[in-house]
Amino acid sequence: MFNPIDALLGLFSLDIGIDLGTANTLVYVRGKGIVINESSWVAREVHSRRILAVGSSAKEMVGKTPTGIVAVRPLRDGVVSEFDVTEYMLRYFIRQAHKEIPLLKPRPRVVVGVPSGVTEVEKRAVRDATLEAGAREVYLIEEPLAAAIGAGLPITEPRGSMIVDIGGGTTEVAVFALTGIVVSKSLRIAGDEFDEDIVQYARQKYNVAISERMAERLKINIGSAYPLPEELTMAMRGRGLLSGLPEEIEVSSIEIREAMSRSVGIIVELVRDTLDETPPELIADLMETGICLAGGGGQLRGLAERISEETHIRAWVAQDPLTCVARGAGAVLENFELLRPALSVDDHRYPGGSASY
Ligand code: ADP
Ligand code: MG
Repeated sequence: MFNPIDALLGLFSLDIGIDLGTANTLVYVRGKGIVINESSWVAREVHSRRILAVGSSAKEMVGKTPTGIVAVRPLRDGVVSEFDVTEYMLRYFIRQAHKEIPLLKPRPRVVVGVPSGVTEVEKRAVRDATLEAGAREVYLIEEPLAAAIGAGLPITEPRGSMIVDIGGGTTEVAVFALTGIVVSKSLRIAGDEFDEDIVQYARQKYNVAISERMAERLKINIGSAYPLPEELTMAMRGRGLLSGLPEEIEVSSIEIREAMSRSVGIIVELVRDTLDETPPELIADLMETGICLAGGGGQLRGLAERISEETHIRAWVAQDPLTCVARGAGAVLENFELLRPALSVDDHRYPGGSASY
């Protein structure tokens, strides 16, 4: 149904691309670039379910929230686990993107990235949450494809290219040719799992309880997937499980590598499995184009070397790997007709007036 008010609001609303990541949410506005880059956290009052903070300010509360308030990541495993919170988060970010435009009810056209492994039901949930959050039109793009576009891979060409996107909750591997995904695989092991591995390691080896944030700092500062030319050390702080008192222990990059080695191994195996299913013709291309690493986890020290060694294909880290998906979704908005084939093939278009509110 044509709704003239929506059509008018649409004229003043923006075209935006959203990377709804399990760890970070980024928003790209057509003609402007990335305008929002925030943690995918929401702080909520337990009994009333009232939302108190969204984004980085909610992440600050993690592990420090008083009783009665919880900080949650609604997309923890790459899918919408809490619909109302996801919708709230989307609405909040859509409003933020329209900050300088005095619209009571922005009605943007939105391209949203979804993990390639999600089911139709999960896709529908993302689509519905985006519509509920005020979008006039929603298009879904598979995240690895968006990441590849953002990383500048030649996905529209007949020659093959490959991306490995390691986020917080999910790792996605995909091979592309002619603007389509030829083979893809995903796994719910990624950056968060590395953090949990480190928490476990500290508990088992040193009898110390450390926070997930401490584990993440250890991973980012001294974590690695391959022996380092010069191994590093860092002070690990936590609570002694026996003494109950604060403890500080110097740990080395060798130990952190050992802690994460199983999860890293599983990711490397996923890359090898994907190559196993890739047609030989495209393998030949990949030997030239290489394997591109994206996502926050793609920055793990030595991961490119490790993957290169185990696959015999050169691996490299995309420029600005944390923003690839958002920039890719943005590129779709900037070149809508050219990249339209990259959008999900099913009927994902919801004309403005027909959405229910
Ligand atoms: P998502 O797309 O799921 O939101 P991101 O691509 O934003 O995830 O990546 C977030 C993950 O990357 C987190 O687990 C974070 O700890 C990790 N990360 C960020 N920087 C680094 C780094 N330099 N080395 C290793 N992991 C990192
Ligand atoms: Mg991501």
